[in-house]
Amino acid sequence: MVRISAVPGLRLLPLLAVFSLAGCESMQAVDRGLYRAVDSVSEQDRVTGQRSLSFAGRQGQIRQGNAVVEQLLQQELQSGRKVSSELDARQYRRLVGIFDRVQRIGHLSDERWQAVLIDRPEFNAFTTGGTYIVVHLGLMQQLQDDDEVAAVVAHEIAHTVANHAFERQGHQTLTTLAGSGSAGRDGYQAAFTHESEREADRIGVLYSALAGFDPMAASRIWERQYRQQGNARGLFFHTHPVNSERAAENRETARRVMTYYSPGRENPRAAELLQDNVLWRKSAPVVAAGQGGGVAALLGTALGAYVQHEGARQEEARQQRQIAFVVAVMEEMEKVSETVIDQHSWRVRWRYRGQVPLQGLVMGVMIRDGAGEVQRYIAPVPGSLRPGQAFGTVFDIPDFKVGALSRMQLKYYVDDAQPL
Ligand SMILES: [Zn+2]
Repeated sequence: MVRISAVPGLRLLPLLAVFSLAGCESMQAVDRGLYRAVDSVSEQDRVTGQRSLSFAGRQGQIRQGNAVVEQLLQQELQSGRKVSSELDARQYRRLVGIFDRVQRIGHLSDERWQAVLIDRPEFNAFTTGGTYIVVHLGLMQQLQDDDEVAAVVAHEIAHTVANHAFERQGHQTLTTLAGSGSAGRDGYQAAFTHESEREADRIGVLYSALAGFDPMAASRIWERQYRQQGNARGLFFHTHPVNSERAAENRETARRVMTYYSPGRENPRAAELLQDNVLWRKSAPVVAAGQGGGVAALLGTALGAYVQHEGARQEEARQQRQIAFVVAVMEEMEKVSETVIDQHSWRVRWRYRGQVPLQGLVMGVMIRDGAGEVQRYIAPVPGSLRPGQAFGTVFDIPDFKVGALSRMQLKYYVDDAQPL
């Protein structure tokens, strides 16, 4: 199972948001204090046109972001864990080779960046807004080819390019100074994160294509994540990226930039295409959130915090509707029976009592073991579902003993569903 992991060194980050590949669960502690007062668009409007609320300037960002990583590296060495080439010379060489190719064609190509490999098994990589990218050894081992490594690396560079970490910090400082009240809504925070992820995905896919790596690789990663984890809507929705949507969006972006891609070859027009391409235009006065707005901002295009704020609001509203729908669908699911099939699989029979025909139904189960570890598994239900219809789902978990289930807590949930 791919699990959402903690970002090492997170407690060192009082304000600086870490954008990690594995998602946002670990960021919640950091996020909680942010956006305390982002309730009024007019407050934000005052900074329209200055999307990057850079209080420190890029050099200051680099100092601040890098200090976090350097402290983490020190901790790693002190606790006897090796890093980078000491840890795994072959994987590190591979990482650096791919990283250099991607970084060299990106918006921050004039900066000297460094890839760091750390001894963690989880599927994760992150940046802190400076000039390091930190990659878990587990990620290198789980990704299936160099194109996929490029996709991750490009996504992480894109977070820094789009100034996501410091944008949050800037908002925080600003809203604290503004002193307005009102609560930081969890949904809003998650939606902001979601928008930032989308933006980094788009920029990253373009980088991959320009650097000569298959731009479809990002969508393959998210498809695989989806098969392993599902979407985990409802219960976990706020803290996880939505894997199936992410796969589809990355696929669409890749399709659009495919003409820039030639396998293994840097696009000779890369510098020009970074500024003006099928995803965004430098000349456009307003770039919608999630459409490369961060890059446009970096390049000096007028783009307000307002734009992303609006994008986040719409996204929040959309997510709330989807959550409400999935929760309502769950209420209409009646469990009829559970039957053991063999050592590691069992069938659950359900009846759907709702009034709305469904498609894209995915059932999930959360299993909490004696140690409190939670694993989630999904079972997609093919086709559509009529009101009153009965159906079955099979949970098939190779590394699992059904006999042990009696000692565990099970909770079924609806992972995803759409009205037909
Ligand atoms: Zn990300």
